[in-house]
Amino acid sequence: MSISSTEIIERLAEIRRRLKRRDLDALLVTQPENRRYLSGFAAADHGINETSGVLLIPAAGRPALLTDGRYRLQAEQEAPEFEVLVYPRGLFPLLRRLLRRLQPRRLAFESHYLLHSVFLGLERLAGERQVELVPLTGLVEELRQIKSAAELELIAKAVRLNEEVFAEVYPRLRPGLSERAVAGLIEDTMRRHGADGPSFPTIVAGGPHGAMPHAVPGERPLKEGEPIIIDMGLKLAGYCSDMTRTVVLGRPDAKTVELIRLVRRAQLAGLAALRPGVVGRHVDRVARQVIEAAGHGDHFGHSLGHGVGLNVHEGPSLSYRNRKMLRPGMVLTVEPGVYLPGWGGVRLENMVVVEEGGCRQLNHDTTFLDL
Ligand code: ZN
Ligand code: ZN
Repeated sequence: MSISSTEIIERLAEIRRRLKRRDLDALLVTQPENRRYLSGFAAADHGINETSGVLLIPAAGRPALLTDGRYRLQAEQEAPEFEVLVYPRGLFPLLRRLLRRLQPRRLAFESHYLLHSVFLGLERLAGERQVELVPLTGLVEELRQIKSAAELELIAKAVRLNEEVFAEVYPRLRPGLSERAVAGLIEDTMRRHGADGPSFPTIVAGGPHGAMPHAVPGERPLKEGEPIIIDMGLKLAGYCSDMTRTVVLGRPDAKTVELIRLVRRAQLAGLAALRPGVVGRHVDRVARQVIEAAGHGDHFGHSLGHGVGLNVHEGPSLSYRNRKMLRPGMVLTVEPGVYLPGWGGVRLENMVVVEEGGCRQLNHDTTFLDL
């Protein structure tokens, strides 16, 4: 299952409307997930300096996908709405030709995803043809925040598959297995179940290691009785899932039980506050207050949640910075945590979709601890 070409055509039409509203003649798309969103072209970039292609979308007329020879066939198959143009000697000579043909007055570019060296090249080309360059941030990302029915279905599948992978790996966890071995097992199981791969490097962090929210799994063996944070996500047809469970092998001690209950209460408070019309920071505030009231305000050092879609971290965020209202169709994580240096951490993360009047959880409510 993938996104239909009808949906791609609608996305392009919406982008063109937005370009016209801003009096822009064309948009150069360099951000890889934006490129996929607008074209269907699924190639990944190995880095901002190793792009597999860019889009040039005029406000009127056929859009172009500029890529190199390695991707010609894939681009033609996956992006039928686009004229696929292969650059024999780098992007700029081809872009020069296109600008001559298109004659844009105002060309927008994604200022949040462009190497400075590429910008300088673009500036030279624009200077030759008296094109005004207009920096634009988040135009496509804004559109991506509201998911279509087809996208929601793909995301729900990615969530379900992620839970299946966890359910398969969980009974195999034993004291003595290294964090790295468990992370490897999780990622192998994802691929065996048909995922594109992990949506981010899997986190397995036991005991004191769990006090670092973005811990890198190491050779440390899992131990009985300690909280172990497992944060994992996979990609399916390009769409991501993201879930955290905190598990204990053997019997958890009273402190672990208390903190898991606390984090769960904060998560439930966040979920209850999450609905269309409230601003992102409000939901963060509500969940944070639960943790603050228990005296752990200083031990919850990240935001409550983030959007998920083609990127595992995208807009909108549930953080003090987000003063924008949530809207139906947004997909978010709700992931409070408590991290105690020297002791460890507890985090629980589920995904939801914002719907009329509230939100719907995409995860099952499993903490795997009978509390
Ligand atoms: Zn996560
Ligand atoms: Zn997350």
